[in-house]
Order: sequence, then C-alpha cells, then structure tokens
Amino acid sequence: MCGIIGLSGQERAIDRIYPGLLALQHRGQDAAGAATFDDGFQLKKGNGLVFNVFNAKNIERLNGNTGIGHVRYPTVGAGSAEDAQPFIITAPYGIALAHNGNLVNFYELKKDLVENELRYLNSNCDAEVILNLISVELSKMDLKKMTPEKLFTALRMVYKRLIGSYAVVSIVANKGLLAFRDPRGIKPLIMGSNGSSFCFASESVALDLLGYHEVTDVRPGQAIFIDTESNCHATQVATSEKAACIFEYVYFARPDSVIDGIGVYEARLRLGEELGKICSESGIKPDVVMPIPDTARGAALMVADALGVMHREGLIKNRYIHRTFIMPTQEKRIEAVRLKLNPIRSEIKGKDILLVDDSIVRGNTSREIISLVRSVGARKVYYALYSPPLRFPCVYGIDMQTRGEFIAQDKSIEEIRRSIDADALVYQTEEGLIRGVGAGSKGFCSACFTGVYPTEIPPALMSRIEADRMAPKVSEA
Ligand code: SF4
Repeated sequence: MCGIIGLSGQERAIDRIYPGLLALQHRGQDAAGAATFDDGFQLKKGNGLVFNVFNAKNIERLNGNTGIGHVRYPTVGAGSAEDAQPFIITAPYGIALAHNGNLVNFYELKKDLVENELRYLNSNCDAEVILNLISVELSKMDLKKMTPEKLFTALRMVYKRLIGSYAVVSIVANKGLLAFRDPRGIKPLIMGSNGSSFCFASESVALDLLGYHEVTDVRPGQAIFIDTESNCHATQVATSEKAACIFEYVYFARPDSVIDGIGVYEARLRLGEELGKICSESGIKPDVVMPIPDTARGAALMVADALGVMHREGLIKNRYIHRTFIMPTQEKRIEAVRLKLNPIRSEIKGKDILLVDDSIVRGNTSREIISLVRSVGARKVYYALYSPPLRFPCVYGIDMQTRGEFIAQDKSIEEIRRSIDADALVYQTEEGLIRGVGAGSKGFCSACFTGVYPTEIPPALMSRIEADRMAPKVSEA
C-alpha cells in the first residue's frame, strides 16, 4: 500500500504536494519522496515519515510547476532506501514516475529488462520496472516531437506486459503530467481540477485539502495526460472487468475519502449495519459496544443501533503511534498495541463488552486488546469483525504475502475465538461485505477473503502461495 500524488499548473507544485503527502501519510510510513520539474528534475526522497524526509531547505530547491510525490509501504523486496520513489530516467526521454501497487510478474519483467534490454535496475521496486518498460517503448519512436499520442502508444505496449495492480503518476520533462490506472482499477486514483491546475491522488482527502473541487475518478485502464498549457488528453489504454480493492473500504483508506464514487465512511456504516444483523442473530447481549479505533468507529455505531445498546469509546488511541498492521515486524506490532491503545476503566469495569474491529490477520493484536480490556475488569468480552475471515495473501501490494500467517488459514471460527480468548466471535459474511461496501454495485477484488484473484497469477507465484498454504503457520506468540 502506497500513496501517490501528481500536480501540474501550479506555481511551485511542491508547496501543494507536501501537504498532499501529509494527507496520504496513512497509506505508508516507511519512505517518502517527491520530484519536480523546472529546467530539469529535482528529487528528494528517503526513508521515514513525510515530516522526517522533507525540511524547509530541501523543499525550497524543489522548483517547478509540475511535480509528483509518494509515500511508501514496501511491497516487493525489503524496502531499502534505493526502493524509495519517485524514480527518474533521462533517456530516451526525461520521465519521473511514482507508483502504488504491485506487479505480480515483477521478477520476470525485471529479468527480461536486464537480460534482453540490457537495462541496469538499481532497486527492487516495481516502479523502476514500469519506468524502464515505458522508456523501452519510447526508444522505438522518433521523439523529436513528443506528443500525448506517443505516450499513449507506449503505454498500450507496456500494459500488455504488466500483470497486477498499478496506479501511476509521472512527469514527462517539458511536456506535462501523465497518470494511469491498471485495467481492473485495483488501486484507486482520483483527479481534481481547479481552474488551470490539475491534481491526481490516491485518495480524495488530498484533493479536499488542496482545494480541488471538480473531482472524477481515473477509470480503470485509463491514461490521462495534462500538457503544459493545462489541456487534458485522455484515452482508454486497456479494458477489463473492474476489480477495485475492497479492503480499501474496510481498512486502508481514510473514512473521509470517496473512492470510485463510494464514500469510505458510508461503506463502513453499511458494513456495521450488516454486522449488526449477524450479531443480533447470534444472540449475544452486550451492555455496551466499543470500536477498536479508528477504523471501526462507524461500524460500531451501527452495531450498537442494531442491538439497541449503548455505544461508548472505551479504548483511546495514542495518535502518534503508527498503525499496527503495517508495522514491519511481529515484535514491533505487539509492542505497538500497548503503546497505541489505553482503556478507559470506568467504561469497561463490570460490563459485558462487544468490541468491533475491521479484520483479524494473525490474531495477536486482537488477543492483546481482549487481554487489555479484561485487565480493567470487563465481565465478558465479545469480538465482532465487519469483514469476513482473511485467508489468502494479497498479491496486489498489501503486506499479507504469507498465507501461513493468517489465523483463519486452518482454524475454525470457534478455534479462533479460543485462540484470541473472546467470549464470542462474530464475522461478517462475504455477501454482507459486498452488500455493505458496494450497496448493490459490483466490480471488487475480494481475493484475500475468497481466494479468487482478478488477474492471471504467474505459475511461480501461485506455487509460492500454495506452498505457504501447506506450510506450518508462524508462531502466534
Ligand atoms: S487481495 Fe484483498 S487487499 Fe489485495 S487487492 Fe484484493 S481485496 Fe485488496
């Protein structure tokens, strides 16, 4: 999961890209970077939060009216400083590029670029592969006059080779800003305009903040080029059945974002409604419903409504601790639970509590939270999830690569309940998930719940997934 932003037609683009990246910080806290174009490219990137990477001095030198920015959570490779984005290439044409997603055929493409195109790739980042594939196609053209059509022609060839998810923003030197989205629209990408300035971003929150009000989603498979005169050129590069990541609505995206026309907060309210029905049928009778902050707030409200009981905040989050799901090691994740959440004893003591959460991955975080709530005197602790059991690895850019890590891989719901020490455990259904998020619409990837992947999966990767399925599960300690 990463966040991207691209902006043109604005004096000193970096002055908007920087706050835009802050609005997207929840999508990745591992590295940040930005590139701008003036007479040439300027680049600043490095490991750490946006606040850590940028300062007044390096922002000052990022001149130019066109720019792109990126926040990273590592998807392929270990996430070294070399993998930070954007990437820049100077021949056959100057292009800077940043990407959100994951190419499932990354290693095959990289090997092919190195062995057959004699490209030297300096990172384990699929953005560098996409950038080099574009440059290979451009090098077959007469580039004395670069046009949007030539870029689109290059993209048509590149799309034929890419398998996976990709939402991309890119500066084309002296020409403008290019953005494109994979044929299934697995990753989100939205465009806003404000007079003569255009902005692309992973989530609408960045556009809200920056005052871009005329907003539209980049369609799956669509490429849009904004030239230096602020003319907008758009084309459909490829078509396929839409399969937007449903987990954006469950967990990743900010609740104040709207993705593909669906409000994330509204989706979470509907997921709560669906979950409330299941909780009612299960017969659990809590005194109070509490969200695990922050993602579960909307859903918990609706569950409390459905059960006709009080809704209270009982766990308070330290806002300065990162989201535990995307902390890189298990030890850090466990430590982060206690650092992140503190219980309000007066709201919990002597009561039967129903905790509402978005999902369970390994179970360690849920177990820690339940233990925390019991430690301040809860009589009973029920646990309800507004998404179904996570069982399959995401191959599109989310850190769920090892199926062996899922607690639901080989455990029944009763076994999971015992493992996390809940008095009752209630999951959303797959149908409830689709109904709740889509409100009747279709076109979602829900492969991490169903195992039905919307793209071709290369045999080597599928074997790895299958091997993970058979492997003994990692320690739950
Ligand atoms: S597998 Fe899950 S997390 Fe990955 S893109 Fe599909 S829905 Fe999103």
